Amino acid sequence: MEKIMVIGAGQMGSGIAQVCAEAGYQVTLNDLKPEFVERGLGVITKNLTRQVDKGRITAEQKAEVLARIASSTDLQDAGAVDLIIEAAVENMEVKTKIFAQLDEIAQPHTILASNTSSLPITEIAAATKRPEKVIGMHFMNPVPVMKLVEIIRGLATADEVYQTIEDITKKIGKVPVEVNDFPGFVANRILMPMINEAIYTLYEGVATKESIDEVMKLGMNHPMGPLTLADFIGLDTCLYIMETLYDGFGDPKYRPCPLLRKYVKAGWLGKKSGRGFYVYE
Ligand code: NAD
Repeated sequence: MEKIMVIGAGQMGSGIAQVCAEAGYQVTLNDLKPEFVERGLGVITKNLTRQVDKGRITAEQKAEVLARIASSTDLQDAGAVDLIIEAAVENMEVKTKIFAQLDEIAQPHTILASNTSSLPITEIAAATKRPEKVIGMHFMNPVPVMKLVEIIRGLATADEVYQTIEDITKKIGKVPVEVNDFPGFVANRILMPMINEAIYTLYEGVATKESIDEVMKLGMNHPMGPLTLADFIGLDTCLYIMETLYDGFGDPKYRPCPLLRKYVKAGWLGKKSGRGFYVYE
């Protein structure tokens, strides 16, 4: 395994490309338009410059990492790599289309991984003729900082494919955790109901938003309160994941809080839209 392609140069894709290039892999960063790839490369350059300023890496090392990342807007480039990590938008139609195309283009040995945070790996794999080579690699945001990668085995994922991905995860300085393919995997199955419950707590007037966040910060030693965290993740994303849990398990305990739905309908999506539970400059 030497060459990696990352599909999608957004928040997650650019971070994944960065950590892979830092570990010495040749990386191809792909997006729909050149300006999207440029934006991703801009974020990577800024991160590396900050590391040079802090004395963590040299200017030469920064140049070497950047030199290992090639730009692409052509999916045909997938034919030249050993591993593809897809980090395009969280939409099953988009992902199955990408995977069906990759299956045609990529060499037979190439592993197809998805960074999806909630969509079933087994369903994405079914869009290909190589479901044994399809796997979930769920990185956390921001990728260069967060240590965890949930590795999700689809129904048909081969043991040797799992092993290869576990080895690569360690090589890029992350900690792999093995998870089976069920709605929300582990991270979001536990995190999102907690956030949803915090929203219910606000909705029912049990406490103010500041108090709810303070209880979880000081009482449970969480680095930030659940409502602040929801604003950072994006309230639309939180709602989407709750819907996935609700649909996937058919259990009313996962029903999204009406206040969450209301905020999303209002366009209060959290930090990215300037307003969620809190107001941002
Ligand atoms: P984003 O919107 O920042 O980036 C998505 C990028 O994919 C965009 O640049 C878009 O142009 C590109 N794209 C869309 N369709 C494409 C296609 N057909 N081919 C190539 N590029 C395409 O989104 P993000 O936050 O980086 O999320 C990406 C994936 O990572 C999603 O599946 C998401 O669920 C998952 N994820 C997100 C987080 C998070 O906290 N944001 C955490 C873990 C996993």
